[in-house]
Amino acid sequence: MTAGYRRAVTSALALAFAFFVTLFFLSFPPVFAGLCPRCFGFVPAGDNIFIEPNAGVAPAQVRADVRAAVAAIEPVVGAAYVPARVLVCFTEGCNGLMGGTSTIGMTYGTRLIYLPPQGYRPEIMRHELVHAVLHQKVGLRRSFSIPAWVDEGLAVYVSADPRVDLDPATCRFEAADLVESKAELRRLGPVKGPQAYGAAGCALAHLVAQNGPLVIAQILAGVYPSKPRRP
Ligand SMILES: [Zn+2]
Repeated sequence: MTAGYRRAVTSALALAFAFFVTLFFLSFPPVFAGLCPRCFGFVPAGDNIFIEPNAGVAPAQVRADVRAAVAAIEPVVGAAYVPARVLVCFTEGCNGLMGGTSTIGMTYGTRLIYLPPQGYRPEIMRHELVHAVLHQKVGLRRSFSIPAWVDEGLAVYVSADPRVDLDPATCRFEAADLVESKAELRRLGPVKGPQAYGAAGCALAHLVAQNGPLVIAQILAGVYPSKPRRP
């Protein structure tokens, strides 16, 4: 291989790499914003939290709300003191810059949470913080292989989501609704999707009722349970 040819191949590879990195960041603006919150207009609110400014919500209020969410989940999942960078949008203008997601909250990997306007709610903060803690505890690489129903079930259960019946005496789930793959979960529609989240939370409630809280410690250690017996 001549030096000139080698240089041309290296340049082409570098160009391709830059193209895919740019494509990645354009596809996931919150990831880019997580690296540079100020580039997207966010201002620091303390505790690794960055918020949309001038939206009528005081930084101290957001800090207090996130701290309350952390305090609520720590007794169950252990130390969670803002393990992640939290970005919060309060308006659709801000959410548009972040890709205009219609989901209510996103956790990226182990250290980044994005809350759009519709996700600035206590249960959603708790939910995303549980994801971040779990992903951190099992590690980024292994976090991709957590069964979707376990990841979401733990988040729904520990966040005590008020939209979901989490009483093992009354809640019911279908085994078919306990989705294994996150891609499959994302593909579910507006009816099947919430059903899968509800089933996952209910399944976790049954697992804790059947096996005690050890099941949560095991999940956090990367040991995932089998689907529980159907109630
Ligand atoms: Zn979730």
